[in-house]
Amino acid sequence: MKLYGALEAGGTKMVCAIGDENGNILERISIPTRTPAETMGPMIDFFRGKGIRALGIGCFGPVDLNKKSPTYGYITSTPKLAWQNFPIVAEFQKALSVPVGFDTDVNAAALGEATWGCTKDVENSIYITVGTGVGVGVIIGGKPYHGMMHPEGGHILLGRHPDDPMVGSGCPFHENCLEGLAAGPSLEKRWGVKGAELTGRKEVWQLEAYYIGQALADYILILSPERIVLGGGVTHQEGLLALIRQETAKQLAGYIRTAATQNLDSYIVGVSLNDNQGVMGAVKLAMDAEKETEK
Ligand code: ADP
Ligand code: ZN
Repeated sequence: MKLYGALEAGGTKMVCAIGDENGNILERISIPTRTPAETMGPMIDFFRGKGIRALGIGCFGPVDLNKKSPTYGYITSTPKLAWQNFPIVAEFQKALSVPVGFDTDVNAAALGEATWGCTKDVENSIYITVGTGVGVGVIIGGKPYHGMMHPEGGHILLGRHPDDPMVGSGCPFHENCLEGLAAGPSLEKRWGVKGAELTGRKEVWQLEAYYIGQALADYILILSPERIVLGGGVTHQEGLLALIRQETAKQLAGYIRTAATQNLDSYIVGVSLNDNQGVMGAVKLAMDAEKETEK
């Protein structure tokens, strides 16, 4: 059995795990995200001495994924100020002396699903998380897509519903972006209570699906994914997925007609892997980093 380190680096917690080449997670701990000075030590202690061949990091962002850039492997303009311009990849490489794979948290989750989960039978897929924020991981041709930087699909601009009672937006940058209109904190801003306490309020979930459906229609039109995976705390709301499928179909207005879009129940799906796609994707990032250095 080969062992790999996996880190799901989030704004509130750092999930550190040891996995094998089949994506089995053998051990894990969760460490609250404080400053790098307080948080790096315990993470390094966890990974040290376990015989890992490489480490994979799925990281909150924005991050620099361009290997030719002098700041490759840095967390860049994050609102978490203590982590701004922090060279997380170099720090782990120095401490652990193993290859380090690096990507966004959502690309890692998309990769986990694409390697071992509900998109393993397709080459092109997207993974969307609607939680504290909204993020979109994109797999094209079996690989996480980066492009200029990496997709920031949580901030795509949407048309606001004329009856939306929310004043302002949940995003400090954009008046009408998906995250600002539909992430968990925006639900709370709009309706005054947490998402989990809004069960049964039809108008709440219809509006939520209206925004997520618009976004999915845009992703479908631009990226032509073969399947879409929806994760994150907000998507745990019962019945929401069905409403999102309906809204997506409505927004596409019959324009896209493929076998996949004729059957939205298997085209727009919930997560698999018991919600371990993030850490499992980080294991795959580690495996790929090891392969890369063998070349
Ligand atoms: P994070 O995005 O920080 O990783 P989660 O994906 O767990 O965390 O998302 C947390 C958000 O999801 C919170 O804003 C919370 O209010 C919301 N949430 C959790 N459960 C539900 C639910 N059943 N219905 C709607 N929203 C929920
Ligand atoms: Zn935004």
